Amino acid sequence: MANISLVNVCKTYKNGYSAVKDFNLEIRDKDFIIFVGPSGCGKSTTLRMIAGLEEISSGELWIDDCLMNMVEPKNRELSMVFQNYALYPHMSVYENMAFSLRVRKLPKEEIDRRVREAAGTLEISHLLDRRPAALSGGQRQRVAIGSVIVRQPKVYLMDEPLSNLDAKLRGQMRVELARLHRELGATIIYVTHDQVEAMTLGTRIVVMKDGRIQQVAAPAELYENP
Ligand code: ADP
Ligand code: ADP
Repeated sequence: MANISLVNVCKTYKNGYSAVKDFNLEIRDKDFIIFVGPSGCGKSTTLRMIAGLEEISSGELWIDDCLMNMVEPKNRELSMVFQNYALYPHMSVYENMAFSLRVRKLPKEEIDRRVREAAGTLEISHLLDRRPAALSGGQRQRVAIGSVIVRQPKVYLMDEPLSNLDAKLRGQMRVELARLHRELGATIIYVTHDQVEAMTLGTRIVVMKDGRIQQVAAPAELYENP
């Protein structure tokens, strides 16, 4: 379970720039929240504050009943997927997916079970012995998502995860993400510029402008043109 609330969250960078102002949002368990808005409006900053990669200047971040402001990223039970996936080139797909679990010293059998299960879900079981260089762009993307899924986070944070793919792969991955959301029962917070992604994936869309929330709406309310 993961309900997230941001209460009067603000971010002022060291140079004095105020990137996020009075951000208030309740994210419910299993929500697929989409952040949209022009470049520079504060989407990534907000995501990074939730992840703990950027300090919150003022306000509160709650996950369930815990105040998270000072909690280290690795203890937040959430995982971030970036637009530029970094796979380890010298490791197989299996080792790439297993890596973070080995760092955490999980038992070998548990690691094996999680990697094979995630690979099954993402339909990359037949690729486990390959190196990243021998994969297509979409396959690499799946591996990157796979290495996040194996950690079984309660919350997925995704910053334009499909923006570097061509239109066809983006379409396939969109379907894949919708299915993962259903199957994992996870809460997802997702940044995109793509209206189709926002419309097909989101349960709620948060429109940002100049560091503030302008509107929160269901996809149909925002994009339906009569
Ligand atoms: P978005 O993701 O919506 O494009 P960002 O959250 O990346 O927006 O950035 C919001 C604003 O904060 C932008 O004007 C950006 O230049 C600024 N910004 C981002 N990171 C920093 C930083 N480390 N120091 C100062 N300003 C920053
Ligand atoms: P995006 O718009 O894709 O989110 P940006 O170009 O805003 O990315 O930011 C890329 C990186 O540069 C981020 O790590 C951000 O923190 C940093 N950054 C952005 N604007 C500034 C700034 N004005 N001063 C310092 N760092 C910045």
